[in-house]
Amino acid sequence: MGWIRNWRRRKVRSRPFPVEWIGMIREHSQFLDEIPTPLVAKFQGDLLVFEEEKEFFGAGGFEVTEEVRVVISAAAVRLVLHLDVSYFDRVSEIVVYPSAYVHPDHDGVILGQVSDWHAVVLAWDAVVSGLRNARDGHDTATHEFAHVLDRGSGAFDGTPILRAREDYGPWARVLSEHFLRLRNGGRRHRRLLREYAKTNEAEFFAVATETFFEKPRVMRRRAPELYGELQKFYGADPASVRDAQLERDGRDRDDRND
Ligand SMILES: [Zn+2]
Repeated sequence: MGWIRNWRRRKVRSRPFPVEWIGMIREHSQFLDEIPTPLVAKFQGDLLVFEEEKEFFGAGGFEVTEEVRVVISAAAVRLVLHLDVSYFDRVSEIVVYPSAYVHPDHDGVILGQVSDWHAVVLAWDAVVSGLRNARDGHDTATHEFAHVLDRGSGAFDGTPILRAREDYGPWARVLSEHFLRLRNGGRRHRRLLREYAKTNEAEFFAVATETFFEKPRVMRRRAPELYGELQKFYGADPASVRDAQLERDGRDRDDRND
């Protein structure tokens, strides 16, 4: 990272965090409550930087408001809470459609996609419904920003830039094992990861990321090694966060799908 960008980022981070942004994020999601107190300032700084640096464009008649920018930026930087926001440096544009749209190059309806190295394309209705239910394993914004992390390594193959050189061996072994088990119809895996993860390694990583954040306890139980690799990369332990929440709420909630 160049020193000019470094200096600019320091200035952006030192701005007061707009309190109204908290309400905008809470309106659509619950993850603010899961951010550990010592990381709140880091999260807010990343959010200021992301929202400032990325250009947002509305498409298909969609008007990008401050709320749209803030909610999408929050969903992105939440993924790198324990990593550096520079993981998103290759992305310069976020294109937002009003709803799931049909892309001319595809035969199906696309909810969001990383169209090239510099742009992320999202459907606002899919972003909203993905964030609203934080426990169903579907989160479009998380899925698309996981693709961005993947592509940061220069290839679109289900492997982002890992923390250490020695992480690549276990990562490749564990992810390929689980990918193949899913393809070969392993029942535990079909119930854990949705069908789309079978498409290729990149989709496997993106869907596994959604499951890691939305159904962490189920993943830890059914695929502990896969959970462990994602935990090592993201630096997050969402299953323990849910454990603590359940502890606090007195375990009176049905937690089978966490
Ligand atoms: Zn995908």
